[in-house]
Amino acid sequence: TYVIAQPCVDVKDKACVEECPFDCIYEGERMLYIHPDQCDDCGACEAVCPVEAVRYEDELPEGWRPFAAVNAEFCAGLG
Ligand code: SF4
Repeated sequence: TYVIAQPCVDVKDKACVEECPFDCIYEGERMLYIHPDQCDDCGACEAVCPVEAVRYEDELPEGWRPFAAVNAEFCAGLG
């Protein structure tokens, strides 16, 4: 799955939301989140993010790794 990380916080550009063919990017109060069970790994969101907040989970820089769980937990709470 792809993951949205730190640079999205308080930015929420939403170019990714428009680009995602699977509509699996959700808006929270301070950032956007990718639903890991719905993401198809197409990479479209990563390509359009103006602040480069999106990475494939295995390619997250070390300091951003906690965002994998942050995305998953937010989306698990969507119901
Ligand atoms: Fe959506 Fe593709 Fe990004 Fe996954 S990788 S969130 S399917 S645009």
